[in-house]
Amino acid sequence: MKEITILGSTGSIGTQTLAVIDKLDDWKVKGLTVYQNIDLLAKQIKKYQPEFVVVVDEQAASSLKNNLNTKKTKILSGKENLKTAAAENVDILLNAIVGFAGLEPSIAAAKAANDIALANKESLVSGGPILTELVKEKGIKLLPVDSEHNAIFQLLQGHAKELKEIILTASGGPFFAYSKSELEKVGVEDALNHPNWEMGSKITIDSASLMNKGLEVIEAHWLFDCPYEKIKVLVHPQSIVHSMIRLLDGTILAEMGPADMKLPINYCLNYPQRKASFENDLKLDQITALEFFKADTEKFPNLKYAYTAGKAGGTFPAVLNAANEIAVYSFLKGKIPFLAISQVVAAVLDQHQNISQPNLEAILRSDQEARRLALEVIKEWF
Ligand code: NAD
Ligand code: MG
Repeated sequence: MKEITILGSTGSIGTQTLAVIDKLDDWKVKGLTVYQNIDLLAKQIKKYQPEFVVVVDEQAASSLKNNLNTKKTKILSGKENLKTAAAENVDILLNAIVGFAGLEPSIAAAKAANDIALANKESLVSGGPILTELVKEKGIKLLPVDSEHNAIFQLLQGHAKELKEIILTASGGPFFAYSKSELEKVGVEDALNHPNWEMGSKITIDSASLMNKGLEVIEAHWLFDCPYEKIKVLVHPQSIVHSMIRLLDGTILAEMGPADMKLPINYCLNYPQRKASFENDLKLDQITALEFFKADTEKFPNLKYAYTAGKAGGTFPAVLNAANEIAVYSFLKGKIPFLAISQVVAAVLDQHQNISQPNLEAILRSDQEARRLALEVIKEWF
């Protein structure tokens, strides 16, 4: 049996990972971690009987300890134990935490030489140089769960030296066809209503604002060691082509499939083999169109900001990410309008003094400072 620890097991990716494991016969769940959803975690403990779980929120952790009678599973709490959990020896550490909180656990897993299946793109956005350097040093695998990067990872096999450019596809989100004045009026419910994918709330808002694609451009830069000039974005509303690569001779290779995260998760768990774990094949004869459009960065400037921050490097990507996290959660709480998300990001980036080759401490400090600034901007404006 192979062993896995899942960070963020109660989320969209975490639960889908468990669903994939249910259909494979060679995985044992060693550890699970969550922020505070102990109701779902309790069910997962009963079903998978992991060696340990970590509940980051202390109050939720003690409530779980008081209410769950289990001898097999050790219940730990707090942020430090999240890193300890990530460093426990396993065949794959799957990081499905949302946001910057995933960075230190990713680093801890890499330091412990665990192979990583990474859904937490914010790890690579904020700490790309540190994480990729560790991956090289330790000779471990960093397998992308994110569907676009999973597609590119598959396509590049045997073609890495012939690559002309990477073409990331974007669904365009629910507001792709909206005018600027329509965007001024959209609310939280509208933004959470993604046309093609069922995901956690943060990434759903990022998809609507195109920040998700911006983060993915930076993620692709680090995963595939590819200059930003060679990473392109196209809006593809059908979400059937999960991404493409263009080769030197003009050939374009595309990866297609159903819009179901269980596919890339399954790929990561079985890599380098392939195994069946579900049956929802894409019905090609029911596809009426595969469309591709330029992304409108006037309407959705986040994508432009991400390229700028990525190219500037240093602490800029971490600051972009931190400002965006604050703006997104403020939008979700109804404190700022949708269009303010990118305005907050721009204002925080504007005020940032770059640190060109940051260590982890500098990244953590820049993240904190950017959060403080974003909150200040929001307080001043709204
Ligand atoms: P989600 O909100 O559904 O789940 C997040 C998980 O992380 C939960 O288990 C939660 O308990 C845990 N968590 C939240 N805050 C935490 C913290 N501060 N410390 C520790 N744990 C914390 O999110 P999701 O949609 O599953 O996304 C997870 C990651 O995967 C994100 O980085 C997202 O961008 C990426 N991703 C998601 C999808 C998708 O379809 N959902 C697709 C591609 C990439
Ligand atoms: Mg994606």
